[in-house]
Amino acid sequence: MSEKIQGKGVIAGIAVGRIMLAGQNIDGYLVNYKPADTETEKKKAQDALDAVAEKLQKNIEMLKSKEMLEQAAIMEAHRMLAQDPAMGELIMTKTEELGNAPAAVLKAAEENAAIFESMDDEIFRGRAVDIRDVGKRIAKYILGVKEPELGEDKVVLCGQEIEPSVIAGLPTEKIAGVILGAGSTTCHAVIIAKARAIPTVVGVGDAIDKVADEDPVIVDGETGEILIRPSEEERAGYNEKIQKQQELKAHYAELAALPAVTTDGVRVELMANIGSHMDIDNAKSYGCEGVGLFRSEFVFMGRQDIPTEEDQFKAYKEAVEKCEGKTCVIRTMDIGGDKPLPYLNIPPEENPFLGYRAVRISLQRRDLFMPQIKAILRAGVYGKAAIMVPMVINVSEFKRVKAFIEEAKMELVHEGKEYSDKVEVGIMVETPAAAVMTPVLAKYVDFFSIGTNDLVQYTLAVDRGNASISYLYNHFNPAVLQLIYKTITSARENGIWAGMCGEMASDPNAAVLLLGMGISELSMSAPSIPRVKEKIRSISSLKAKEVLADVLKMEDGDEIKAYLQKVL
Ligand code: PEP
Ligand code: MG
Repeated sequence: MSEKIQGKGVIAGIAVGRIMLAGQNIDGYLVNYKPADTETEKKKAQDALDAVAEKLQKNIEMLKSKEMLEQAAIMEAHRMLAQDPAMGELIMTKTEELGNAPAAVLKAAEENAAIFESMDDEIFRGRAVDIRDVGKRIAKYILGVKEPELGEDKVVLCGQEIEPSVIAGLPTEKIAGVILGAGSTTCHAVIIAKARAIPTVVGVGDAIDKVADEDPVIVDGETGEILIRPSEEERAGYNEKIQKQQELKAHYAELAALPAVTTDGVRVELMANIGSHMDIDNAKSYGCEGVGLFRSEFVFMGRQDIPTEEDQFKAYKEAVEKCEGKTCVIRTMDIGGDKPLPYLNIPPEENPFLGYRAVRISLQRRDLFMPQIKAILRAGVYGKAAIMVPMVINVSEFKRVKAFIEEAKMELVHEGKEYSDKVEVGIMVETPAAAVMTPVLAKYVDFFSIGTNDLVQYTLAVDRGNASISYLYNHFNPAVLQLIYKTITSARENGIWAGMCGEMASDPNAAVLLLGMGISELSMSAPSIPRVKEKIRSISSLKAKEVLADVLKMEDGDEIKAYLQKVL
């Protein structure tokens, strides 16, 4: 008899395969381990550190040769952890304390991981998994535990948390799907699965215990449904869905090369949101036409100190070059809110989303802002870079940013460094204040990019991360739509371009409304591009305007959402 469990689908697609329990339990091996004298244990720990680093290095080279750069970067971070002198020292201290190398390694990794786990930021918390992963690898090496072997069948990896290296270390063609008991869209396991388009369900919780090794399963990465030991009938029921999925994949691949243009010839640019230059190759395979949002705070995160101008220049130059003459919009760092930066030592705030963040920090911290601006201006020499300022609420902030940019140019002249004078400077419209003031702001900026993730939360007073009020978080709320419409209209009336880089841009029905409003560009996570492009190519701008006119008469966000689902 089949059993059904439910999670949250985060990467769409149907996976059919046999369960391979990942995140193997090594407790049994530990209990039976007979430690030698302390000196021998220390040597074993050191040998294991070296061997694991070497194995990871081979893995990195294999991934790079297959152009799997994102995965390679994650494995590189693991290799660095294995060779981190502080981590090595801690392991040796613990070995002296415990007289047992594998136990010492696990203890050191656990202590280190706990520090990351206590951080507010989801991305940093995710690093705890990486640290435990590396610790477990080293301990397994000492204990002589074999890595899971693959058979003929495709596997569905399953675990409460799965170490990123387990996914990265297996060939894509062998992994049908991923099931995580915990997990979120930003944990590394999901990032890797996304880069490989592996259907994934997270948040299954304790129901994951119902799944046993080798169980046949069907995983629906869209609905989050998992069928354990499905009957022949149930399998057949999914065949049609699988067939459709394959056709859709082939169709999307064809779409990548086509422009996003309406049936009556109105063109919209579809760009990618990225966190690193390493995301661009993958984004191109989905047909992105440049980068509409490079979240530069990721260049500042996951390190111990402020990146230098040179560090940043390298990161931005790579991104700009990879865009091959198409626009690369680099957002100045948006630290604060839910993205703290421990080395800035910002004291805790009662309302961090309404606090010291983004441009507010940049304008007070010349030591942070000046190198960033100079790095972007220099990267501009290698293509078409643009600077985008987050969280602006008034004209004076923008004027101060412009003054900074002029100063940065003067410094670059003095230093004899080459820079581009053609770098556009725009703002994110993500506060209601900015949206209301767009008729004035449009006289100063080169472009607007609407950040709906924040604009929705600030307009509706609904925390974007609070699950209990998520039913109120609706980008079709008329108050939000009015602000968006005003922003796009202000841009058009002043001869500048307006785009959108918040999640709303990846909603095909929203894209129709935005098209009706006259938007020029939509930027989103790359896998969403084909669906949005398809919608744009299926409709005329006239029809989009008609739909918009109907929507503007409506009074309620849920009504608008339902109406769009009906007519589009
Ligand atoms: C937004 O607020 O819509 C946005 C794109 O920025 P972030 O999600 O990084 O706050
Ligand atoms: Mg934002």
